Amino acid sequence: KIKAVSNGLLIDSTSFSNGYKKFTYKSKYPVTHYLLFVAGGEYEILKDKNTDFSSSEDLLLEHFLFKETFDRSREDLELIKVIYERLKRFTGDYPFKDELYGIVEVSWPFGGMEHQTRSAISTDAFKGLYSAYGLQAHEFAHQWFGNLVTCKSWKDIWLNEGFATYFEQLAYLSKDNEIKIDLPEVDFYGSVYKTDGFIFSRTVYDKGAWILEMLRHELGNEKFFRLIREYLNWYKYSNASTEDFIQLVNQVSQKDYRWFFDQWLYSRISRPFFEVKLKSEKRDNHYFCRVDLKQLQPEMIFQTHLDLKLIFDDESEKTIQVFVDARHKVISFQSDVELNQVLIDPENKILKSVVYK
Ligand SMILES: [Zn+2]
Repeated sequence: KIKAVSNGLLIDSTSFSNGYKKFTYKSKYPVTHYLLFVAGGEYEILKDKNTDFSSSEDLLLEHFLFKETFDRSREDLELIKVIYERLKRFTGDYPFKDELYGIVEVSWPFGGMEHQTRSAISTDAFKGLYSAYGLQAHEFAHQWFGNLVTCKSWKDIWLNEGFATYFEQLAYLSKDNEIKIDLPEVDFYGSVYKTDGFIFSRTVYDKGAWILEMLRHELGNEKFFRLIREYLNWYKYSNASTEDFIQLVNQVSQKDYRWFFDQWLYSRISRPFFEVKLKSEKRDNHYFCRVDLKQLQPEMIFQTHLDLKLIFDDESEKTIQVFVDARHKVISFQSDVELNQVLIDPENKILKSVVYK
């Protein structure tokens, strides 16, 4: 009744006269030490497949589930197919397709772990009615970001966790062709590049994902997703460091983005704090409008593109983009209508804090 599971495919199982049973698993793909995995128990196996219409190759799915809660978990695991179709648009095909992908239900109190080809997920995450979407998407995204390309050292852990958090969101929130990301706008402690402290922190996960979101806005969708494909292709079944990634960013963009990574990734300063003041004065028949944008954080000055949504007295609106690279930036212009309000970064493209004076 007892079944054992590990990475890759079961190639042999032998029963012995003393009641013992031996299971042999094999994987042809290179795997790093921390992704190795063994579990055993009275599992019920759910075999399924995801028919891949674009390449006419199926992805085999094989889940090891607890018997008592089999139906509940089976319902939730239907989501993997949706997650795969959505992720694949950005990452390409599942990297261990010659073998399989599967969830192994475990009795941990919470969370999951992205063992290569066999993600373990806490039994408490499965609630039925298609739950555990985010967690399933996160562990599945790790099969590319972490497993196919593994961070070179633990200092580079954001290449695993920041990326998995970001692509989890792309799979979770982005239907069809829209791209929707929802990340917390809070202060993050310490730098994303880990030289000290706990490496599995919100800074690594959420600010790491913020860095990718801000980079996407810097590069534009076409270049950003090309960068992701090239990153996966260049470092597949191997390791990458933060510096490797930055080099590739510069290569794909044909620009030097060192400043971007210095301020967002290596720096310990959480985010810019903007203070905004606006003035609109009538002279002759025109309004002279002035927006004062100050950075209040004392430690350093951030450089960033910033959208300003201008709302006028006649309810007309206009969005302009400025590049902020000084402690105090003044944007002035003339208008026929009075300027009523200015909104900084209305689409939340930048990690920041704003006070309106
Ligand atoms: Zn993770």
